[in-house]
Amino acid sequence: MTVKLYDLKPYDRTFKATVQTCTNAGRSDAVLFAVTLDQTLFFPEEGGQSCDTGLLTPQLSNANKPTISVIDVQLKGDEIVHYCDRPIEPGSAVTGKIDWAHRFDNMQQHTGEHIISGLVNKHFGFNNVGFHLSNETVTMDYDHELTPEQINRLEILANEAIWNNCPVTAWYPSPDELASLHYRSKIDLDAGVRLVRIDGVDLCACCAPHVSTTAQVGLLKITDYRRYKGGMRLWIKCGGRALADYRMLHDQAGALSEEFSSPRDALVEPVQKIKQDLESAKAELAKAHASLLQNRIKSIPDDKPHVILLEPEIDDTKALRDALNELAEKRGGYCAAFYGRQDQTWRYLCAGTGSDCRIWNEELKKAFPVRGGGREGMVQGSVEADEAALSAWFATLYTS
Ligand SMILES: [Zn+2]
Repeated sequence: MTVKLYDLKPYDRTFKATVQTCTNAGRSDAVLFAVTLDQTLFFPEEGGQSCDTGLLTPQLSNANKPTISVIDVQLKGDEIVHYCDRPIEPGSAVTGKIDWAHRFDNMQQHTGEHIISGLVNKHFGFNNVGFHLSNETVTMDYDHELTPEQINRLEILANEAIWNNCPVTAWYPSPDELASLHYRSKIDLDAGVRLVRIDGVDLCACCAPHVSTTAQVGLLKITDYRRYKGGMRLWIKCGGRALADYRMLHDQAGALSEEFSSPRDALVEPVQKIKQDLESAKAELAKAHASLLQNRIKSIPDDKPHVILLEPEIDDTKALRDALNELAEKRGGYCAAFYGRQDQTWRYLCAGTGSDCRIWNEELKKAFPVRGGGREGMVQGSVEADEAALSAWFATLYTS
């Protein structure tokens, strides 16, 4: 059974231990050796939280001290298995060093989760039913939905708990003491329960390392929330992650502020205005396209049943569809448009009232590389061809 040093001393970064076993890990990734120690500071992947990583260094008398990377740590029964990139002699003494930045980040996020889950339970009576802490995201699931107002209140209460600098303590209570306490737990536990108390906020069964006072969480931001399995999923960022997120958003707002010549706290109005301007401009352009197309159509002699429009510059499917439908009503033949050219690729539409456009589409496919199809009255797609070849193809088949 590995002694869990992280239970007792969550702030220690290095430790000494004796290697118990070292075997081939039988894994296909960079991890080659499974190492057990008599004691360890490496927290294994457990309870939805990622494991510690770091280094093991043999305590040899000579200068040849290879450094061994601990890439993964898993709990196997009572043993904590360190998956390493090099072997170590069983019986030898080692010094272990955990990646402290990673561990402290996990401690900040995990304590933040306790604060939120404790407050959700205390103020709304809902239970935490899921938790996931990876290097990128922290999610917590609750068994009831929360309103935006409740979530807003939670965030304020959580940060007040942080400012109050509440002590966080972990201990193994006796069975009698445990029976006398009301604590949160996802599963029914009896023996060896480790409790984590945040004074005035929460009491919860938990196996992971936490910060020793809430102020060390620094800042807690609820970044997103969604309905999930009949309840609610919340995303949070704490401490260093919250600061990194704030810096990123501040930089983004700064760039937009320059772009719009507007202060960082007044960016919504110029963005809305540019959106409205864009919509107006699109409407104007659509009108101009419709008018241009009407003029084009007028210039085509009335006696032609089949019509081709070549409009490389116009990329307005709606205006063209309207114009072609109107034209097909009057002419009765195939009324086609090739438009919105990019390099040699055109978009196309073909309307017909007395003719099956799918037959026209098959003819087009025989002559050019085509992606498209449709129904009897209208086909559409894209075709690769040059302008002269399209005109020539249409003139050969459909001049009358
Ligand atoms: Zn915990």
